[in-house]
Amino acid sequence: MISDFTYLKPGSAKEALKMLAEHQDDGKIICGGQSLLIIMRQGLVTPEYVIDIKKLKDLNYMTFDPKDGLKMGATTTHRTIEKSAMVKEKYPVLVEMEEKLASIQVRNWGTIGGNLAHADAAGDPAPVLMSMGGSVKVASASGERVISLDDFYTDLFETAMNHDEMIVEVIVPPRPAKSATKYQKFNLLDSDQGIVAVAATITLNGGGVCKDARIVLGNAASTTIRAKEAEKVLIGAKLDDAVFQKAGEAAAAECQPVADIHASEEYRRHLISILTKRMAKAAWEQAKISG
Ligand SMILES: Cc1cc2nc3c(=O)[nH]c(=O)nc-3n(C[C@H](O)[C@H](O)[C@H](O)COP(=O)(O)OP(=O)(O)OC[C@H]3O[C@@H](n4cnc5c(N)ncnc54)[C@H](O)[C@@H]3O)c2cc1C
Repeated sequence: MISDFTYLKPGSAKEALKMLAEHQDDGKIICGGQSLLIIMRQGLVTPEYVIDIKKLKDLNYMTFDPKDGLKMGATTTHRTIEKSAMVKEKYPVLVEMEEKLASIQVRNWGTIGGNLAHADAAGDPAPVLMSMGGSVKVASASGERVISLDDFYTDLFETAMNHDEMIVEVIVPPRPAKSATKYQKFNLLDSDQGIVAVAATITLNGGGVCKDARIVLGNAASTTIRAKEAEKVLIGAKLDDAVFQKAGEAAAAECQPVADIHASEEYRRHLISILTKRMAKAAWEQAKISG
């Protein structure tokens, strides 16, 4: 059963931040409620104040600019991202990822800001956005700062945000030339969270050599993590199946998965190896033909 709380409904992001400053020790932001209400029902969090930002128009937008890339207000729903023609054209992997995130009902309510802030290592958006070099703009009543997703996740369900801060915007840089991102989660039910997941971004130079690689693993440690040893195998290499195999092995060696009812640690490492190999190759194939 959910404990009693006081429901606060700010009229703007500024007002929400003021409320958050006042209630940083006994309050929680709620947006779509798709994760928060579950953990409140389980009694894992018992806020005395719940600050509802779902309907704030100043946090609900999506823009794209060739220089600055994609900017999404924190309350943008998964469904809005999935259905955006602009996102499909500029960042098709985001649409592919959203199509497999939960059910349409959850995607209609759940938001990109809520998903990233919840900091579940099995969340789908974080690996993809991190692989593309994404960041979040967080704000408090006293100012704003941008945090790279590389630095955002600090521990299990923990982020670098202070208690008086909230995500106001998610930023994805423009895709470089000859670059592509691919993502796959391994799950038994199509729209479930992944037992593990891998996102791979490969950028090629003019000669077809790998100029940059960002491999990000989901549910393979207590937080979403970069597989930096796998990236080292790929960067500077003329890519082929042997290199992808080696990158997969490196990712499997460096990840820190747990064993649970869904899979053993060994099985998770095996899956990470296979998915890293496949996603890096798929991103490479797409990067070769991309502008
Ligand atoms: C049945 C089901 C299946 C699911 N399957 C998947 C899946 O396959 N993949 C996946 O990635 N996710 C999955 N989810 C999780 C879902 O995607 C997230 O719950 C949702 O995106 C969270 O967004 P929200 O707006 O509902 O957040 P809320 O539940 O409102 O909030 C979640 C947390 O984030 C905080 N918060 C919310 N907004 C902000 C903000 N702007 N700034 C700072 N903190 C904030 C809240 O205080 C809370 O701690 C599933 C959820 C359900 C119920």
